[in-house]
Amino acid sequence: MTDTLVVIEPATEAALEEVPRADAADVDAAVARAKGAFPAWRAVTPAARAAHLRALADALAAHHEELAVLEARNAGKPLGDARGEIGMVVDTFRYYAGAPERLLGETIPVAAGQSWTVREPLGVVGLIVPWNFPLTIAAWKLAPALAAGNTVVLKPAELTPLTALRFAQIAAAAGIPDGVVNVVVGPGRTCGQRLVEHPDVAKIAFTGSTAVGRSIAAGAADTIKRVTLELGGKSANVVFADADLEAAAAAAPGAVFGNAGQDCCARSRILVQAQALDDFMALLEPAVKAIKVGDPLSEATQMGPLISAGQRDAVASFVVSDAAVAIRGDVPSGPGYWFAPTVLYPVDAGARAVREEIFGPVAVVIPFQDEEDAMRLANDTIYGLSGSVWTRDGARALRMARAIDTGVISINSNNSVRVSTPFGGFKQSGYGRELGPHALDSYTEVKSIFYATS
Ligand code: NDP
Repeated sequence: MTDTLVVIEPATEAALEEVPRADAADVDAAVARAKGAFPAWRAVTPAARAAHLRALADALAAHHEELAVLEARNAGKPLGDARGEIGMVVDTFRYYAGAPERLLGETIPVAAGQSWTVREPLGVVGLIVPWNFPLTIAAWKLAPALAAGNTVVLKPAELTPLTALRFAQIAAAAGIPDGVVNVVVGPGRTCGQRLVEHPDVAKIAFTGSTAVGRSIAAGAADTIKRVTLELGGKSANVVFADADLEAAAAAAPGAVFGNAGQDCCARSRILVQAQALDDFMALLEPAVKAIKVGDPLSEATQMGPLISAGQRDAVASFVVSDAAVAIRGDVPSGPGYWFAPTVLYPVDAGARAVREEIFGPVAVVIPFQDEEDAMRLANDTIYGLSGSVWTRDGARALRMARAIDTGVISINSNNSVRVSTPFGGFKQSGYGRELGPHALDSYTEVKSIFYATS
């Protein structure tokens, strides 16, 4: 431990807390603790491991408000949103508490004996998570990893380590055995990198930028580590003229300005059928202007600041000319990394704001002619994470849902993340699935056993 990390509160730009900053040697020590704890944790009976996870869910529920306030302050997100996210953390542990007793295998007919499959844990799993949904995204990885019998080393983003550190204390108090859950707070380029390279880490589960995801996939190749990557997005919100335009326009701001746009699922490309464009824009404008941006701890707030000054500069670089700003909301003055909800129209198809993930409260509106045009535009991106289709034509909705190359898609809704359904990307949005029954595949190896009977 060489250093101290000052954690900043994005709404005030003031120091929130100071925590020790780990280095590569601390990662090695955490991996050694996790490795030492693995044999006993994998040997815990399925029912007892389930009980551990239920106890952890109960303990997290008991600390719900404390964790929500901490997350709201550290990540700059509205308290109401933070409460929902911590609720999802609890639900995720409850859901995967059902998994240890349901890790089923198959029997396969073979000659001269019996063959069947079992699911084995991987060992020590490294979890590297971002700052946008700090404890929620950590829970999506922690819960299935632990349920399957792995031990973990969690590296939160340096900008938002506080709920992960508190989680480790709560887990210990809830009776999770020593060494099963380890949290290391340190920079990605040293601590994250060390986890990726470490020979005793069997798998990396990563959420973050596509650029870092690429380097993790490359770094993991040396030790043939398992890797799951949940990366960026540039999701389309496709609104046909026959949709309930009021509902689509009322929901569109939340789908891109929620979490101040710092959401890999942000529907930041709003595709609107040309004949409905004027009506849609007329409905969208008051909805955007009504968004209450301000103090994350105020109950009325719907959008907080961006995470950092650097992120605000990065987002501002996409709004180079006021000419394209069709709608702009309000922001508070004074300290805080504020950025107003912004809708750009018209935009050039090649503009950075159309092609790159902005990760801030900036949306582009792009008109389209017909279904074929909408499909082409929706898929005209390197990403493939999420998206929405709004139409009253059920057959068209289903055609669009199948044609859009994303891991999740919603019809007449912008909600695509649930504890019980798989979540993850196509194309450069990553690979592997989190949540739902599918996440367990990424934290287990299938073993085939043959017993000779002849
Ligand atoms: P990063 O991808 O850099 O960070 C995500 C996590 O990876 C953090 O814990 C970070 O650590 C860690 N990390 C960074 N570099 C390495 C490395 N070489 N090896 C291992 N781990 C590493 O995202 P940023 O925070 O820089 O955000 C940049 C952009 O990424 C955003 O503007 C957005 O476009 C995208 N992004 C997408 C997310 C998503 O949910 N898909 C989430 C976050 C960002 P640390 O930060 O502590 O150094």
